[in-house]
Amino acid sequence: MRSSKNAQMYLKNKFENIYHAPDRCPDCEVMLEYNGLGEYKCPKCGKIYKDDFGRVREYLDEHRGATVTEIASVTGVQETLITRMLRDERLEVAEGSKTFLACEACGKPIRSGYYCDECAQIAAAAKKKRDKENEILDRKDLIRGLGKAMNEDDGKKRFERR
Ligand SMILES: [Zn+2]
Ligand SMILES: [Zn+2]
Repeated sequence: MRSSKNAQMYLKNKFENIYHAPDRCPDCEVMLEYNGLGEYKCPKCGKIYKDDFGRVREYLDEHRGATVTEIASVTGVQETLITRMLRDERLEVAEGSKTFLACEACGKPIRSGYYCDECAQIAAAAKKKRDKENEILDRKDLIRGLGKAMNEDDGKKRFERR
């Protein structure tokens, strides 16, 4: 269900512990096992604990169309962190909801990521053009470099011959 990209992102966030993952079961004092999707289970008593991501996800599941402000006030998770969860595409805003993410380029409402489809295409095209230009520059550099090396070689040979 979760893509490997999401799993990687999760591990990174887990490492930085930005989602305030629970560590041990406070009752049994044993390490919790990760269940996926921000949920942790105590191997001894079976109690489920959630990190910030798990709490936000649960709230969003039950309240489709909730705004970031609303989620933040209920779960106690910082708005910037919730936005980050959405931006990282780990959570997607439900269709027809009061969408709260804006395209970074044009400000149009989007459901996940950073750009709307149009701007993503424009950005991709611009990147392609830039890559192409860099490639041409690299090639020019290479040719200039070769030319220089040949001249130096020439000069050296001429010098040796004398
Ligand atoms: Zn326990
Ligand atoms: Zn846009």
